Amino acid sequence: MVHSVYSNKDSFLRELVSNASDALDKLRLEAFRNKDLDVDTSDLHIDIEVDTGARTLTIRDNGIGMTRDEVVGLIGTLAKSGTAELRQQLREAKNEAASEELIGQFGIGFYSSFMVADKVELLTRKAGESDATRWESSGEGTYTIESVDDAPQGTAVTLHLKPEDAEDELHDYTSEWKIKGLVKQYSDFIAWPIRMEVERRTPPAEEGGEEVVTIETETINSMKALWARPKEEVSDEEYKEFYKHIAHAWDDPLEVIAMKAEGTFEYQALLFIPSHAPFDLFNRDASVGVQLYVKRVFIMGDCDQLMPEYLRFVKGVVDAQDLSLNVSREILQQDRQINAIRRRLTKKVLSTIKDLQSERPEDYRTFWTQFGRVVKEGLLSDFDNQDALLRISSFASTHSDEDATTLAEYVERMKDGQEQIFYATGETRQQLLKSPHLEAFKAKGYEVLLLTDPVDEVWVGNVTEFDGKPLQSVAKGEVDLDSGEEQSEAEREEQEKEFTDLLAWLKETLSEHVKEVRLSSRLTESPACLITDAFGMTPALARIYQASGQAVPVGKRTLELNPSHPLVTGLRQAHQDRADDPTVAETAELLYGTALLAEGGALEDPARFAELLADRLARTV
Ligand code: ADP
Ligand code: MG
Repeated sequence: MVHSVYSNKDSFLRELVSNASDALDKLRLEAFRNKDLDVDTSDLHIDIEVDTGARTLTIRDNGIGMTRDEVVGLIGTLAKSGTAELRQQLREAKNEAASEELIGQFGIGFYSSFMVADKVELLTRKAGESDATRWESSGEGTYTIESVDDAPQGTAVTLHLKPEDAEDELHDYTSEWKIKGLVKQYSDFIAWPIRMEVERRTPPAEEGGEEVVTIETETINSMKALWARPKEEVSDEEYKEFYKHIAHAWDDPLEVIAMKAEGTFEYQALLFIPSHAPFDLFNRDASVGVQLYVKRVFIMGDCDQLMPEYLRFVKGVVDAQDLSLNVSREILQQDRQINAIRRRLTKKVLSTIKDLQSERPEDYRTFWTQFGRVVKEGLLSDFDNQDALLRISSFASTHSDEDATTLAEYVERMKDGQEQIFYATGETRQQLLKSPHLEAFKAKGYEVLLLTDPVDEVWVGNVTEFDGKPLQSVAKGEVDLDSGEEQSEAEREEQEKEFTDLLAWLKETLSEHVKEVRLSSRLTESPACLITDAFGMTPALARIYQASGQAVPVGKRTLELNPSHPLVTGLRQAHQDRADDPTVAETAELLYGTALLAEGGALEDPARFAELLADRLARTV
């Protein structure tokens, strides 16, 4: 997957300002929590300094700063190990757009400085410490680091800009006009003042007099919290840039959700649905993306109390009016207001996805491909929203090779007299399509959902119905497929009678493997298949539990036989004629093994199966 990255090297400034802003948030919070920390927080801000002569650009903050170890860990490793590959690829990248795309893929904010600088210096002192650290690198894989003893608290990043390109006035980062423009465009909403020294020219007071040039410090961003502004006043561009700041993202969000709640619990929320899943989506420790503010003050990032786990990809900000500033994660867990906010936000996100589904099908498909597997986890944990979750879900099915279907669409296509929604679970679509369980459904024209995500195996056990229609696994329980051309009752009884002996004998012969043997109405081509009880655990589900460290007993299953298959009729004959011949019992074993293999299962004793099979083949070649 190739991310579409903002193809503009200007974005390095957004990244550095964003880091500085985070550092200021962290310091304010730390000072608030730790009364022993001796820092001055009365004038937290960001300075941008340009030195035209030296061609340097410095972004300075008086925020939390970094220790030497942190510099090595957070910044150094980027320039060193993890990005060896990136650097290699960067060197080979043909053009600027290609290299930015790479930087975006690697998601490295600080490293983006090297798009415009050939040397970067970082001087930092952690709040509360006396030693400072100076780090320097030209982005080629090495860096120098030293301790210094006099540096202001906070961090200054100095870029030694690449040589001037006379042709390229658009990217002159020593120009006051350029920097102001970038800050307005990318970082206007930053809650801290971004200051810069600007030249102010006063025209001569009288004709022939001299123009007066004074240097003034100006705050170049408006600092208006985006979420507090009326939606109509905020442009798409502003939302996008804000998203990139808080989500540490390089691409545009798929959807923006702005909410305002008044009344008992007053809060504002600005949420984003990203357009790409992060690489660590399935890592349980991965951060959740919602930040909590209280009355405009940043309280915590990754506030997992604000979003259920299955919506952990949603990014954004919630600003609550009535919480205490020193609220902790533990307190939040029990806070009624936070729980109420979470319920509201959850419903809002789900209804937004629903709207996407009906209004922007293409975007919905993107969304579902990226996040569907995570959203379905909600079917396990969020009973209140189960129906809403089922409605926004879509699944592969036998109806179409390309397009997934919603359950509502499935229900619309159900055959006359069909009362259940049929589904099959397994590892791949290919495997499922060939599974014996599906045969009769296909032959008789019933649509079957093909569920291949590991989570599917689990949620289907939790959801009993959709729209009043029960969900029914093709591999579970007894099915009664009404095809119109059904056998008559008498014919069926006749058949049952013919097979009674064989079924009883097989049950005994295979008792180690199966609990029951019966005739099947789901098979048209294969000789046999294995069926789980209606409420039993499928082998695949057992494997999932086992993988997560829980041992679970897998009950024996039922073997179903296709009464018209030559192997089955032949076996019946053989059992009748030479019941004591050991090869007949071996055929039974092979029949069972084949059923297991056909559904993609694993043989209990593969060597034994291979031996029996080779033996048999030897006799027929
Ligand atoms: P990200 O911001 O996505 O974590 P970056 O490459 O932008 O990635 O920054 C890496 C880390 O370096 C940050 O998470 C932060 O811990 C640290 N860092 C960067 N800039 C600063 C700064 N100005 N002050 C304090 N820490 C910083
Ligand atoms: Mg960053």
